[in-house]
Amino acid sequence: MAKIGLISLGCPKNQVDSEVMIGLLEKESHEITPDAAEAEAIIINTCSFINDAKEESIQAILEAARIKETGKCRRLIITGCLPERYASEMRAEFPEADVILGVNQIAEIVRAVNGEAVPPPDSYGRNDAKLFLYDHKTPRRLIGPKYSAYMKIAEGCDHSCAFCVIPKIRGRFRSRSISSLEKEARRLAADGVREITLVAQDTTGYGADLGLKDGLADLLEVLDKVKGIEWIRFLYAYPDVFGDKLIRVINESEKICRYIDMPLQHASAAVLKSMRRGGSRARLTRMIERIRRNIPGVALRTTFIVGFPGETANDFKDLRDFCREMEFDRMGVFTYSDEEDTPAFGLRPKVSARTAKARRRILMEQQAKIAARKNRELIGKEFKILIEGAAAESDLLLQGRLESQAPEIDGVCLINDSEVEGIKSGDFHTIRIAKAMGHDLLGTIVG
Ligand code: SF4
Repeated sequence: MAKIGLISLGCPKNQVDSEVMIGLLEKESHEITPDAAEAEAIIINTCSFINDAKEESIQAILEAARIKETGKCRRLIITGCLPERYASEMRAEFPEADVILGVNQIAEIVRAVNGEAVPPPDSYGRNDAKLFLYDHKTPRRLIGPKYSAYMKIAEGCDHSCAFCVIPKIRGRFRSRSISSLEKEARRLAADGVREITLVAQDTTGYGADLGLKDGLADLLEVLDKVKGIEWIRFLYAYPDVFGDKLIRVINESEKICRYIDMPLQHASAAVLKSMRRGGSRARLTRMIERIRRNIPGVALRTTFIVGFPGETANDFKDLRDFCREMEFDRMGVFTYSDEEDTPAFGLRPKVSARTAKARRRILMEQQAKIAARKNRELIGKEFKILIEGAAAESDLLLQGRLESQAPEIDGVCLINDSEVEGIKSGDFHTIRIAKAMGHDLLGTIVG
């Protein structure tokens, strides 16, 4: 038995992998410690989606290597997307690392900690038969709050967006079965989880590889019946199909959040074409209007990339006008990150970093005004709120989230209430919104 420190970086999908590793280690009686200096083995579960994520991962590895020199750590283990992408370079760059595991070697984590030999990560284009995907029988221990959990419904991606390296890292798209996901949801509910967030690289594509026409809608129908779960949301919808059945299932459910996260990446047809995503501003407008028309009260979140190679001032204007017109409820904007091994890497002309940053700033400023106005429109209205606990800003206030606020990515709702006794994390209440504070809200519990 060893004490193990684990640093989980990157997106919720990586977080699920970290939770599975912890589950596997605890099953073998290893203990997870939050104190890196006490850890006999340190695992860094890395992300390498874009340059900033790579930098963060490298810093975490270097920090762990320093701890290994001075603390109790005997084994440094690097896992996740970074080694999957740069296995041989990493062996040379980080001689302090004792084991390097790729994304399909999660089940090897126990052997790696125990000091047993493990094979090196497969390189790009590996054998399909070795692709890893956990199921309901795989041990998993949540590292987030007890009342909210992610469920990875599929892994990999069959799209070929020109800027994205994920399909090369994570392999072809493969879905878990509905029955496995239902069993996992039941187990989570029995453990006290009230909110489930479904994640995958492409959630609306769920089940296509299993031959399901309306896979996500079918899955949601089943999860809707799981007792104890009060909120179900899904992130990362791909904007090609948003079927009638999916709309119907969302509308008929009391549990499925009227919240759609759909990364659109751009609105100019020329940029979308060179991104290898296709579509146009008019087509995206029709899709968004259809979703809004058919799902009353829906909150829409999206993300865009600015500074993609070849993006002209006119393309950017198209995007800016589109955002002004669509008035998204939530929006994230990234500057393009030039990633080797992606088709976009060879595209010219590149947009300067300065221009890309300026475009990002312009979009974010425009959005801040839209979001603030939308938040002001909520004043006086009542909503169901999931209590999270003490507010990040002050222990004196509580905070929670509305149906329209996804965990970790959106704002929160602060609770301004002297009568908060008896209110606990994971409880649902009704709140009346009293004030809008930028991306956050402030309200009073009324029931
Ligand atoms: S949909 Fe596109 S951006 Fe998303 S993971 Fe797949 S290839 Fe990457």
